[in-house]
Amino acid sequence: MIILAVWASLAPAAPAARPAPQPAIHRRSEWCPEKLGDIPVDMPKQRIVVHHTAFPVTDKVKRLRGKKSWQAAIAHARQVQHLHRHIRGWQYAGYHYMIDWEGRIFEGRPLDRLGAHVENNNTGSIGVVLMGDFSKQTPTKKQLASLKGLLAWLRRFFDIPADKVHGHYRMKHTVCPGLYLDNVWDPDAPALNSVQISPPSGE
Ligand SMILES: [Zn+2]
Repeated sequence: MIILAVWASLAPAAPAARPAPQPAIHRRSEWCPEKLGDIPVDMPKQRIVVHHTAFPVTDKVKRLRGKKSWQAAIAHARQVQHLHRHIRGWQYAGYHYMIDWEGRIFEGRPLDRLGAHVENNNTGSIGVVLMGDFSKQTPTKKQLASLKGLLAWLRRFFDIPADKVHGHYRMKHTVCPGLYLDNVWDPDAPALNSVQISPPSGE
């Protein structure tokens, strides 16, 4: 027994589980003037669906710094909110999280509200959107790093398997989240090995 105990103390420790800390998330109240008015629901968290806003972000906006950059990100988030709330008639921006070009993560619809981002499959789906139009432009490195951190944390927190993280296009006939996002965030994307990724001209 003593030998076993000594051996155990000398044996290398088992590899620690990959850490997935909660990333910094800006609360909804920091960008959205409209208060939540509905009742929380116990939304199941079975999968994550990734989108793009499809609103382009210009290089000029990406170069903004400090307060101007923050204001541009908030304006983009409010553009999403306006589209979803006042044009489509939903209660709030339909996504649970929005990530800007600086990698800042904004709470969209709280996780205790059913999302409105993947037709007929909102139940069980956490919605994550990246700001930009990735059928025409590439996401920034900061944006992708934040996406990976957020996905890792959500997956670990809610015990969501890797094959339950989808681009929107896998659940509906759509180009969302765009070729230039899809092929870099999702290693299992079917187009990965057949498409050469390069920045679109003019970017
Ligand atoms: Zn989408």
